[in-house]
Amino acid sequence: MSTACVSVPISWLQLEQRQLGELAEPQRRAVDQHLAECATCRACAERIARDAQRTLPPLPALPAPLAPARAAPPAPLRTNRRLQRLLWLTPALAASLLILLLPRAQPVAPPFAAARVSIKGGELALSLVREGHGEVTEATRVYASGDRLRVLVTCPPAQEQVTALVLQGASVEVPLSRVLSCGNAVVLGAFTLTGDAPATVCVALGAVDARSTPAALARQLAGRSACVALTSSTAR
Ligand SMILES: [Zn+2]
Repeated sequence: MSTACVSVPISWLQLEQRQLGELAEPQRRAVDQHLAECATCRACAERIARDAQRTLPPLPALPAPLAPARAAPPAPLRTNRRLQRLLWLTPALAASLLILLLPRAQPVAPPFAAARVSIKGGELALSLVREGHGEVTEATRVYASGDRLRVLVTCPPAQEQVTALVLQGASVEVPLSRVLSCGNAVVLGAFTLTGDAPATVCVALGAVDARSTPAALARQLAGRSACVALTSSTAR
């Protein structure tokens, strides 16, 4: 499915900002004016509004990796925050923070290229819908910076925690992770992908600690993830 926008395309980002009430007044008027004339963009805006009502929080461009529960600092009581911070930074945690802070020398190699794998007597499959500039492309293998990618997951029917990861250059991001009623091509959510480096998007059953070393991450994903490799349409 691919539908075109009538004139100057409105980006998904703008539509999302409009939904969140984050557009400045002149910009919002311009977007509304375009929406009045363009059914394609209007459909996009309605889709965003539906999503917002349903389950998804607004998605910033590639939010920070999901922090593991253990790393959540205790409620900040001003008087003993310093002590809490000291207690929190046990050697093991300090070591994992160090890993987090050290730039990764090697790009993270996508662990698996298969968009569908056998799992739990069924299938785990990933399909990405690219939504950008008034165009919608199913099962995309290409993106442009700022595109919104909708993550469709097929998984054996059950309630499962499903996590989406983005591996791009040396970074690993976890834009989506939630409990899903698995089935055929279920929407996990959407996120915005920026940059122009090749990216690999994976979905995995269960939680994933994105702070792991590349080797540990590959072990975590082994046998329970499906991935799609994307190239940038604007990369030089
Ligand atoms: Zn339009």
